[in-house]
Amino acid sequence: MTAQRTKAMAQYDYDLFTIGAGSGGVRASRYAAGLGARVAVAEERYLGGTCVNAGCIPKKLFSYAAHYGEDIGHAAGYGWRVAAPAFDWRTLVANKDREIERLNTVYANLLSGAGVALLRGHATLADAHTVVVDGRRISARYILVATGGWPVVPPIPGAERAISSNEAFHLSELPRRVLVVGGGYIAVEFASIFNGLGTDTTLVYRGERLLKGFDAELGGFLAGEMGNKGVRIRFHCNIEGIARAAHDNALRATLADGSALEADCVMYATGRAPNTRGLGLERAGVTLAANGAVVVDAMYQSSVSSIYAVGDVIDRVLLTPVALAEGMFVAENLFGSGGPSLDYEGIPTTIFSNPNVGSVGLSEAMARARAGDIDVYRTSFGPLRHQLTGSGEKVLMKLVVDRKTERVLGVHMVGPDAGEIIQGFAVALKCGATKRQFDATIGIHPTIAEELVTLREAAA
Ligand SMILES: Cc1cc2nc3c(=O)[nH]c(=O)nc-3n(C[C@H](O)[C@H](O)[C@H](O)COP(=O)(O)OP(=O)(O)OC[C@H]3O[C@@H](n4cnc5c(N)ncnc54)[C@H](O)[C@@H]3O)c2cc1C
Repeated sequence: MTAQRTKAMAQYDYDLFTIGAGSGGVRASRYAAGLGARVAVAEERYLGGTCVNAGCIPKKLFSYAAHYGEDIGHAAGYGWRVAAPAFDWRTLVANKDREIERLNTVYANLLSGAGVALLRGHATLADAHTVVVDGRRISARYILVATGGWPVVPPIPGAERAISSNEAFHLSELPRRVLVVGGGYIAVEFASIFNGLGTDTTLVYRGERLLKGFDAELGGFLAGEMGNKGVRIRFHCNIEGIARAAHDNALRATLADGSALEADCVMYATGRAPNTRGLGLERAGVTLAANGAVVVDAMYQSSVSSIYAVGDVIDRVLLTPVALAEGMFVAENLFGSGGPSLDYEGIPTTIFSNPNVGSVGLSEAMARARAGDIDVYRTSFGPLRHQLTGSGEKVLMKLVVDRKTERVLGVHMVGPDAGEIIQGFAVALKCGATKRQFDATIGIHPTIAEELVTLREAAA
C-alpha cells in the first residue's frame, strides 16, 4: 500500500466496512484483512448468510436425507433385507441445526482469525462513507454491500399462509401433503426433498417447462423422472388464493381455472429479490435497478465511488461460488495488486433435485444462436446401478459442439452425481476443449461419466 493511500485510509475508522457476513461479504472481508486492510463486517441475522443457514448447506443435507429413503428401497435388489424404514423429521432438523451451528462458529473464527471486527446488528448507510449499526456511526473509506436476497411470495389473497424455503428448513412437522409452487431450481429441489421424505408432493408451475434458462431438454427430462418418482407436476397452473380448508388444519389453494388443491403446506419458490430495502442506499446516492439490485460496473463499483456491491444483491448470477469470486475480486482490486475480471461464461451449476441436473456452457438453443452450425450428441440410458434395483430411472447426457471449430460449447446431464461429474468437465470447457479431445480421452469404466467421452454419433 502506498504512503498516500495509507494516510487517506487513516481518516476513517476502517478501510473497508462490509454489510452482510454471507458468502460474498465474509470472503471479501477476510481477503481484504489478509492484504493489510482494517476491516469490519456487520451481520444482523446469521454468520455465513443464506448459503450456510437457509440455502446450499441445509438444502443439500435435506437432499441427502431424501435420497436415503430411496436407497433403502433400492438395496433390496442387492440382497439387503431391511425392516420397513421409518423417518423422523425432528431428528433431521435437529441434526441439521447442529451442523449449521458448527459452521456459524467456523465462520466467526475465520473472521476473528483474520482480524476482521464483527458487529452484530442491522446496518444502514448514512452517507458515502458512513454506516450506522444499531445507532452507532462508523466511517469507512470503502463500503461493500453484500446483503444477499430474500424470497418473494406474490401478494395473492392468503399469501401469509404460504411458506418460502426459509421456513421449510424449520417446519415443526413434516407435512403429509405439500404444494410446491415454481419451476426453478429451488422448487424442483424442494419437491424432490419432500417427495423423497414421504410427503405427498405436487409441483405447481404456471409455465410449460421446468428450469427455464437451462438447455430445454433438461427440464423436460427431469419432469419425466420426477413424475416417475411420484411428484405430481401441474404445468400452466396458477394459484389465485390460499384459504384454510374446512378440516384438519389443511390449506386450500384455488387455481385460476376455478378448481382447488388441498395440502398441509404451500411452499413458494417463485423468486428472490435483492435485499436493499431500507438500507439507505438511495440516500447515499446509489443507483438501484427496478428490482432493487445495486447497479455496479465491471469492478463492482456502484454509482457512488466509495460503495461497492457483490453477490445476490447485484442480481447477476445467484450462486455462492460466484459471490465468493466477486468478493475476492473487490478485495484484491481495492487492497492488492488487482486481478483479472471475472468470466461469467461457463459457470457450472447443479440442481440437487432427484435426479440431479448438471450443466455447463451453452444450451443447444444458445449455441445455435451464437455459433450457427452446431452438432448435438445425446444419449439416454438406464445406469448399471439400477439394473438390479428395478428402478426405471434413466440418465440423460448431452454435448453441444461448434461444428466449425469442434469446440465443445455445452455439457448437460440429468442423473446421479451430476455436480461431481460436471465440475471436471467445466475445466475442460474453460480450456476450450474440442470434441476431438473429448474423443481422445479414455473413459473410466464402468461409470456414467464415461458416456461423455464416448459419444460418437451426432443427433440427426
Ligand atoms: C434454498 C436455496 C438453496 C440454494 N442452493 C445453492 C446451491 O446449492 N449452490 C449455490 O451455489 N448457491 C445456492 N443458493 C444461492 C446462495 O445461497 C447465494 O447465491 C449466496 O448465499 C449469496 O451470497 P451473498 O453473500 O450474496 O448473500 P447472503 O449469503 O444471502 O448473505 C447476506 C447476508 O447479509 C445479511 N444482511 C442483510 N442485510 C443486512 C443489514 N442491513 N445489516 C446487516 N446484515 C445484513 C444477511 O443476514 C445475510 O447473512 C441457494 C439459495 C437458496 C435460497
